[in-house]
Amino acid sequence: MSRHASAVRARLLILGGGYVGIDAYRAVMRQLGPQVRRGQVEITVVNSTPYHTFHGFTGEVLGGVLPLERTLTPLRDLLPQARVIEATVTRAELPMQRVHVQDQAGRTSTLCYDHLLIGTGSRDPFERVPGLREHGWRLKDSRDMQAFRAHLAQRLADGQPTTLAVIGGGFAGVEMAAALRERLTRAGVPGEVDLLCSGGVLDCLQARFGGLAAHARQALQRAGVQLHLGRRVTEIRAGEVRLEDGASLRADEILYAAGIALSVLPGTEELPRDGAGRLLTDDFLRVQGQTRLWTGGDAARVRHPARAGDCPVNALWAMKHGMWAGHNMARSVQAWSLKRFSYRGLGQVAGLGRGDGVGELFGVPLTGAAAWWLRLLFFVWYMPSKRQGARAFAAMLRPPRRRGTPAPALQPTGG
Ligand SMILES: Cc1cc2nc3c(=O)[nH]c(=O)nc-3n(C[C@H](O)[C@H](O)[C@H](O)COP(=O)(O)OP(=O)(O)OC[C@H]3O[C@@H](n4cnc5c(N)ncnc54)[C@H](O)[C@@H]3O)c2cc1C
Repeated sequence: MSRHASAVRARLLILGGGYVGIDAYRAVMRQLGPQVRRGQVEITVVNSTPYHTFHGFTGEVLGGVLPLERTLTPLRDLLPQARVIEATVTRAELPMQRVHVQDQAGRTSTLCYDHLLIGTGSRDPFERVPGLREHGWRLKDSRDMQAFRAHLAQRLADGQPTTLAVIGGGFAGVEMAAALRERLTRAGVPGEVDLLCSGGVLDCLQARFGGLAAHARQALQRAGVQLHLGRRVTEIRAGEVRLEDGASLRADEILYAAGIALSVLPGTEELPRDGAGRLLTDDFLRVQGQTRLWTGGDAARVRHPARAGDCPVNALWAMKHGMWAGHNMARSVQAWSLKRFSYRGLGQVAGLGRGDGVGELFGVPLTGAAAWWLRLLFFVWYMPSKRQGARAFAAMLRPPRRRGTPAPALQPTGG
């Protein structure tokens, strides 16, 4: 069907093709699908890569259990009715309701909108950790992850002794350390995995689920991960991690999983933010004080609807923010009243290597195989593409290969 500009009632522009962006698109389609198909409502999604990255299985990817491709899904498959633009958003002009983008070839263009959703997530905190950019491996961007995978696979294929330092005692760091330890053992390559935490292991669970944090700590120790608790990293150098107490730790490869930082899109400096740079929202996922500007996920600070404090910063909450923001954006287009964000959470879970994990579902603690299965099923269910989820599930049940083989070039598979 041809689209006539005069018939377009609303232009919805989504910045970021991550969890927020995908779920916002889906929520809009649920309500305005017929109008989108008739060309009366336009959805445009801008993302710096042509695919969505699922971070939940980072441990399995590093551990050589899951090909990286299984965690990448082309955005065009996920957003069939949207105009998908592979470009970087460089600047916004909020009073003019437009943003400027630049593609990889350097071509620039301007996109106008009636409603704007900022779902650009977070980035690695380079300025907080000197040496991270030059000497540390980061895993947020799938291209960095691919580079590390290829490098590690080559080392293991060559049988090179390898010491790996993982910085960060949260969910991502713990999962990576456990997975890498398993991989070294499986490859039969001498080496060590060190986990450096400024506090303890899974401190976020300590207050309500101290037993789970203890289980994780013991499982890591049993697996042979060297724990360095209460050791804050101040700098990363070539082959060396510098610590706050003046000591240092040598490592062949240093991986960073200890926090995020926010970028402020030029032109949005005046919007209300917290000290970390996250956009402040109202109860409907609008940026505070704005009627056509929406946000969620890592980029936003959203008040938890059921208890004191903010929503956790993770993929599940990003999806729910996206869903609510998309839903309210669609209601706004229809001039309907908005729905207050009321999602209350589900639980949290961390993998500790094959067959083990810790987690809680609606406050019920789980450990061992039960937690591992819960995590697997939960993640597969929440992957943005069911086909990719099924492939990931099948790959995870296969016994992993013993030796590292060099990783192939990055090639996302269809969703
Ligand atoms: C290594 C790692 C492991 C993790 N493991 C887990 C886990 O096990 N469970 C869990 O719940 N959470 C996990 N997380 C956290 C989770 O991935 C984030 O909370 C989630 O991605 C936030 O979703 P989002 O949509 O806000 O941002 P993202 O998913 O990061 O999406 C933002 C998108 O915006 C794009 N973008 C950014 N800036 C621009 C720009 N200027 N122009 C165009 N595009 C732009 C990015 O390319 C990206 O595609 C992990 C994170 C990392 C890094």
